[in-house]
This record gives sequence, C-alpha cells and structure tokens, in this order.
Amino acid sequence: MPWKIAQSLVWLLGTFILGALLFEPQLGIHLLWNILIPIAPLFLVVAAGLWRNICPLATTALLPQRLGFSKKEKLRLYQEGYLGLIGVCALLLIVPLRHLVFNLNGPATALLIVALVLVALIAGSILNRKSAWCSGLCPVHPVEKLYGMRNRFSFSNAHCESCCKCVAQCPDANAHAKPFPIQTTRCHRLAGLLMVGGFPGYVWGWFHVPDTSGIPTMGQVLTCYGLPLLGLVVSCAIFLLARCFFRAASLHAIFSATAVSFYYWYRLPALFGFGLFPQDGILIDLTSILHPGYIHTIALALSLFFFWWLVLSPPIKQKWLLRPAYAKTLQSPT
Ligand code: SF4
Ligand code: SF4
Repeated sequence: MPWKIAQSLVWLLGTFILGALLFEPQLGIHLLWNILIPIAPLFLVVAAGLWRNICPLATTALLPQRLGFSKKEKLRLYQEGYLGLIGVCALLLIVPLRHLVFNLNGPATALLIVALVLVALIAGSILNRKSAWCSGLCPVHPVEKLYGMRNRFSFSNAHCESCCKCVAQCPDANAHAKPFPIQTTRCHRLAGLLMVGGFPGYVWGWFHVPDTSGIPTMGQVLTCYGLPLLGLVVSCAIFLLARCFFRAASLHAIFSATAVSFYYWYRLPALFGFGLFPQDGILIDLTSILHPGYIHTIALALSLFFFWWLVLSPPIKQKWLLRPAYAKTLQSPT
C-alpha cells in the first residue's frame, strides 16, 4: 500500500509537470530540467531501485499489463539486446536535442514526453511486464544501469507481485545484470561499450555546447551532436585501451564515477549562474551574492563522494529490487 501511495503521488507530480510544460512553460522547464533531472543522477547512484518503483513513466508503461490488454509476449535474449541498444541510441540522439529545442521549449518537451509514453504503452501492450520498456527501450534505463552499478539498498518490487521471468536477465532482480550482463549478445556488448566507455566523454562534450534559441542553423546542429559524439569516441578509445591494464569491474566503476562527476561538475555551477554559458540552465542566479568557489567546492565534494561510492567502497552485490516469488506456472530456477 505505501508503494501504491508513493506511485500515485509521483505520477500526479509527473502529470503536473507535463501540464506545466504545456501551459506554464517557464515553470515546467524549471521543474523538469532545473530540479528533477539534476537530482536524478544522484538518486540513481544511491537508490536506483527506489526510483524504479515510483517512476511515473514506469507506472504508465505497465498500464496495459494492469488493465489486461497486454499480449504478454516473451522477449528472447537477442531481442533484449536489440531493445537495449535501441534505448542507448535513443538516449544519445535525444540528449543533444535539449540544446537545440527542449531546454527552452516547454510544449516541445511535453510532446517528447507524450511520444515516450506512447512508445512505452505500445511496447507494454505487446511484450510482458517490464521487458519492453523498463528493461529495454527506455532511454533512461542505460543511465540507471551505469550509475546504479554499485547498489547498497534493495527494496521490495512494487510493480511485480510475482515473477514471470519477463526478461532473461532482470536488471531489478539480478546484481550482475548491469551494465554488462552475464549472458550477452553483440548488441548487449555494443550498448555496454557505448554507455560505460563512451558516456563520460559524451557528458563532457554535451556541457561544452550552448543552448540554441530560434531555428538552429546546420552548424549549430552539427556542434550539438558533434561535440558529445566526439567525446564519446575519445572516451571509448581510452576505455578500450585501459581494458588492457585494469580489471573490468574496476574500470566500469571508474568510468561510471567519471560520467556522473562530470555531470555535477558542470551542472551544479550552471544551476546557480556560474556555468560555462552563464545564461543556460539557471535555477537561481546567485552570482551577485556567492563566490563561485563555494559551488565548485560542493561539486568537488560530490565527485569525491561518487568515486568513493562507486570505486573505493567495498563492493556489494545488492539487487535494486528483491525478486518476488516466481509465478506458479514457472519452475523456480536453482
Ligand atoms: S526504465 Fe525508464 S520508465 Fe522505467 S523506471 Fe527507469 S526511467 Fe522510469
Ligand atoms: S521481477 Fe520478474 S517479472 Fe518482474 S521485471 Fe524482473 S523478471 Fe520481470
């Protein structure tokens, strides 16, 4: 019952933000891009399972299941790989559009969310439970797997009353399923390389591009995509080289911590007017009352925390969510 209440409240909050993006765009943009999204990476590092239990998009994506019109088709391992790779590509294609459109345009952002909801509903009406969206296509899922790789808190699973093994390697109930699962296909490995190896450089590149107002020129489009993708390629190259010298688990943790540290190193100052592009992504302008050193010190402290949490602290193989009992029609695996 407490999970249902939490899901309902967060779903109402999500609906409110969607309405604000349409009818009060400035408020909607602040709520989504300058409050909710900046908190999200920290949330994913510390308690990814909690987020997966209350995320409003997840609650919506599971409606076909709950309302009884899902075909509940089973996802095979190779299809799981395809969906995961499509999710990563969607993430890499959508995020630069923030500079070109979404950061400054509330209704366009609302349309993006509605489009994601529609895809989630269609996917959920064909495939079983979380297999289609929350363990596959959702563009946020690869980030959950990257940042939530060293998990300490397991929660009960608020979406699955019983487990029907909707996905071969459930990311919720399997401590090994992220970001490189044990059973892999070529698509799993490519998705893992792009996210673990490439994402730190991608994040770095993204923060070196300013927001664009009005209709963007071809040069601005190329810059918006070019810099993050260049960062991704360089980061992947460093990752592949470093694989010759480091254990895989340590390297994955270092790259995860680097990506989330880059995010806050640039995003935190920008929220208070000290960003590389001072007019972009401001929550409150503190430039007239605060020395930038304070904000940079907090960003540095956050980076140290991420390296401690993800790299230096004792490794614990905790699942995001506890697997519920298997459905009666299934045989329990050993
Ligand atoms: S995978 Fe997407 S829809 Fe599912 S919990 Fe994560 S962000 Fe929400
Ligand atoms: S716990 Fe079972 S039913 Fe629920 S998402 Fe994981 S594999 Fe699917």
